[in-house]
Amino acid sequence: MDRELSGNGMSRIRNELTALSAEMDTLDLPCPGCDGDPFLPVVIRNNFRIVRCRACRSLYARPRPIEAQLARIYEKFPQLSNGREGQVNDDPEDGAREAKDRLSRLLQFVRTGHLLDIGCGKGDFLSAASRIFVVQGVDVAPRLRQEARGLPVFKGQLEEAAFPQASFDVVTAVEVFEHLFAPQRTLREIHRILKPNGVLLFQTGDADSFLARLNPNTWTYLEPPVHLNVFSRKALQDLAEKIGFKPLYSWSFDRAPQKLPILGGRRSSTAFRPLLDLAARQGIIGATFVWRKG
Ligand SMILES: [Zn+2]
Repeated sequence: MDRELSGNGMSRIRNELTALSAEMDTLDLPCPGCDGDPFLPVVIRNNFRIVRCRACRSLYARPRPIEAQLARIYEKFPQLSNGREGQVNDDPEDGAREAKDRLSRLLQFVRTGHLLDIGCGKGDFLSAASRIFVVQGVDVAPRLRQEARGLPVFKGQLEEAAFPQASFDVVTAVEVFEHLFAPQRTLREIHRILKPNGVLLFQTGDADSFLARLNPNTWTYLEPPVHLNVFSRKALQDLAEKIGFKPLYSWSFDRAPQKLPILGGRRSSTAFRPLLDLAARQGIIGATFVWRKG
């Protein structure tokens, strides 16, 4: 999924999501980050109410669609599940570059074994990783590119795949957690299927980031029923501890340098990486995290 759904295609999709929301059954559930009930209403988007948890400051849709209806969204709008921090408009070259950047970061922590990519989408990362790891993908609506076809991908939710306990050395979930009906349940499942000392690399929106705090009313990441949960840093830290992960490292999103208007999207913008990584660690912009199963 993309960091910010934008562009011409998005206003049409937004109208259709609003229409779709009228047909969806919903459930009134407490905060997906901390289970806290008290909240403050923030904004109505696509007919859904986004609220902020008073305890952990996460942003979430309340009520939210029932789980059985979520896969429909990605079948109807496959461009919303491309498995990378991309755009509505697909760019295979950008996807391959992002996958390469992410893989080189990951290799600092784990260099061999079985890798599971949740929300693998078009399979850009899955094919890059398959040169080093034994890979497995999961996606509710996979749309693999030619080069990723033939790689094993389970179609459905992670929990439905029922992988054996302690079977992966590394799990990656990039732009996935904001979509999930029950993110704590999925995180527990990841913990179960990771080997001891296994690594989880994940990236999701950040309710404490600059844009989110500046004006949630205009922050395009809040996109229900596609994006249902945007955690605060505190919620993520508390979850990691509660479920049994130890935070190891974090950095700025793979595509962060291309997003700086001042740099015009040039690859030379990687020179700004250390600065962007620092901004991500300070919570000014979103971060990619690596946690280790403790
Ligand atoms: Zn909360």
